[in-house]
Amino acid sequence: GTSLDSQDTSSARGDKRPVHGLSEVVVGVLGGGQLGRMLCQAASQLAIKVIVLDPMENCPASSLSHYHMVGNYDDSATVQEFAKRCGVLTVEIEHVDAATLEKLEQQGVDCQPKASTIRIIQDKYLQKVHFSRHSIPLPKFMQIDDLNSAKQAGVLFNYPLMIKSKRLAYDGRGNAVANSEEELSSAVDALGGYDRGLYVEKWAPFVKELSVIVVRGRDNSVVCYPVVETIHRENICHIVKSPADVSWKIMKLATDVAFRAVSSLEGAGVFAVELFLTADGQILLNEVAPRPHNSGHHTIESCYTSQFEQHLRAVVGLPLGDPSMKAPAAIMYNILGEDEGEPGFLLAHQLIGRALGIPGASVHWYDKPEMRKQRKMGHITIVGPSVGVVKARLRSMLREETVDGE
Ligand code: ATP
Ligand code: MG
Ligand code: MG
Repeated sequence: GTSLDSQDTSSARGDKRPVHGLSEVVVGVLGGGQLGRMLCQAASQLAIKVIVLDPMENCPASSLSHYHMVGNYDDSATVQEFAKRCGVLTVEIEHVDAATLEKLEQQGVDCQPKASTIRIIQDKYLQKVHFSRHSIPLPKFMQIDDLNSAKQAGVLFNYPLMIKSKRLAYDGRGNAVANSEEELSSAVDALGGYDRGLYVEKWAPFVKELSVIVVRGRDNSVVCYPVVETIHRENICHIVKSPADVSWKIMKLATDVAFRAVSSLEGAGVFAVELFLTADGQILLNEVAPRPHNSGHHTIESCYTSQFEQHLRAVVGLPLGDPSMKAPAAIMYNILGEDEGEPGFLLAHQLIGRALGIPGASVHWYDKPEMRKQRKMGHITIVGPSVGVVKARLRSMLREETVDGE
């Protein structure tokens, strides 16, 4: 059913009090970065209360949240205290204390997605084991514990070899490439050594990276956003094009793999599935994020329902919205820190100044207290009547003859 009445919001509410707004459920978010901030922005339109837990007093979500509890989301006592204030507990970062979420679930706290999902995803090796058990196609992988096993992996998978930290990885921090056996030691050292918990992946010879955002409601309804292409620079998401320029067959295959991957995980919410497309038309899974994702930022302007509104609808138990695009084409460009401090701000502000004059461009600035190199400081989404037009607008904004991915 699609009417409000037919939705199971009582389990999220915990009681049968009359609903005055769209939902009386207080949504607690672990983490108050830019994803939390954009969740708050979507929540304000629906008058849903979002509270955030983040250690930084002036984190991006702080000023827009209904309430900001200053504290660590990886500290058990703090998360338990925070949970008392929430009708439903969700995350904007997967590096939270999964054991505490499991304990809270046993006590009846409503976590969406489920603690089991966070546990699987926050350890990339465990994630790979999980998806291979569910017959999801992915690059071959293997745990490494010492130089011997690393060399063995090199023999099995050949070079270049992608070495990854199992935990606490984001924006490519946690990845190192060894181009030969001689480079193994330095690559492992760069990641903090074998004790950090490492594994290797066979190099994926991709022609494109794709991403599909899949949303599951509390009633198990599912919607998928159009397949997008993501372009990374130095392992960091840099540009997202929607829709991806691939055949219908690839669109269908990518959506199918993403749907199957998400179906193997428990709980409601937005999931982003990062994929590799190979020259021979194979789709391999890279990783899944159990939350709104950088590859879905464009949906704020380009789709009928944004990924952020969709996540809120999903976790509180409202009907899911329409994920389709309302503009023919969109490009999202991440504003990454190019320099530390003031010089970095100056460069970002010059770019934003040009973006404000581009038709169809929307500027998002996350208001992070510190500028650092390669840090995601904001993003710009350009929508327009065709792929050619939005690309031309991006080139003009960047004052470049060509942009990445051309
Ligand atoms: P984020 O969470 O910010 O997406 P991350 O730190 O978890 O990034 P990954 O997604 O594992 O890192 O990898 C970052 C990028 O490195 C990928 O998007 C891809 O460009 C490249 N990459 C990762 N794994 C492989 C692989 N097996 N073969 C080739 N390239 C890879
Ligand atoms: Mg990741
Ligand atoms: Mg990734």
